[in-house]
Amino acid sequence: MSVHTKLYEGKAKIIYPTDDPQIFLAVFKDDATAFNAQKRGSIRGKGEINCSISSKLFKELEAHGVKTHFIDSPAPNQMRIEAVKILPLEVVVRNIAAGSLCQQTGLPLGTVLKQPLVEFYYKNDQLGDPLLTRDRLLLMELATVEQVNKITHLALQINEFLKDFFQQCDITLVDFKLEFGLNSQQQLLLADEISPDTCRLWDISAENDPNRRVLDKDRFRRDLGNVEDAYQEVLRRVIKAVERE
Ligand code: ADP
Ligand code: MG
Repeated sequence: MSVHTKLYEGKAKIIYPTDDPQIFLAVFKDDATAFNAQKRGSIRGKGEINCSISSKLFKELEAHGVKTHFIDSPAPNQMRIEAVKILPLEVVVRNIAAGSLCQQTGLPLGTVLKQPLVEFYYKNDQLGDPLLTRDRLLLMELATVEQVNKITHLALQINEFLKDFFQQCDITLVDFKLEFGLNSQQQLLLADEISPDTCRLWDISAENDPNRRVLDKDRFRRDLGNVEDAYQEVLRRVIKAVERE
């Protein structure tokens, strides 16, 4: 494969074109950012860990009928992906109240939601990724009604699978963020990544300790320490769960 100049560098990944216009190469970085990139750092090994976790989860989701951009992983920190046009939406699914949901509603941290909550945020760093209403999203033509309905359905389906999968890892899936895109045939695909950067994951064996239970980017956001260890632990358990299947 010939060398290409990068197409786009985000906070967590660099996207390269390949000789095939339908295929991109995502190279996962160790860089970590939080609070809309106001906090910056690095998590040793994160690129490889997140790429490995994401690859395994995408493969599992494909096996359960969810169309994703994942093709294969030529190196531990690299993923070949189907090129899509990303819808500028961050689709968040929540099972337990945490983060901005607590801040904006007053719901206490850890409140178990009676049913999963699907939320749409505008993927726009300048505006700070604001929460959207359905009407605002449609007004701004960020997606069509059909796409919103399909994404909502997929997000809930993905949640059911991931909740169950992480349960087998002795991990509670608190919430997570998804991105979707359209490929050259206008098919809607699950894209981006699913990793401890984009999920809140609580260790069931420490569920009553609000610091010890955290196995995700909140360790970095809240300076809880042992960030690499937590990410590595998630990967270890994901590998075990996949092997058990
Ligand atoms: P960000 O800083 O926006 O979080 P990332 O570093 O996580 O960016 O990822 C880099 C970019 O790659 C993001 O804009 C993301 O939406 C985009 N992306 C993810 N998957 C695909 C894909 N299959 N095709 C095209 N772009 C993608
Ligand atoms: Mg990202």
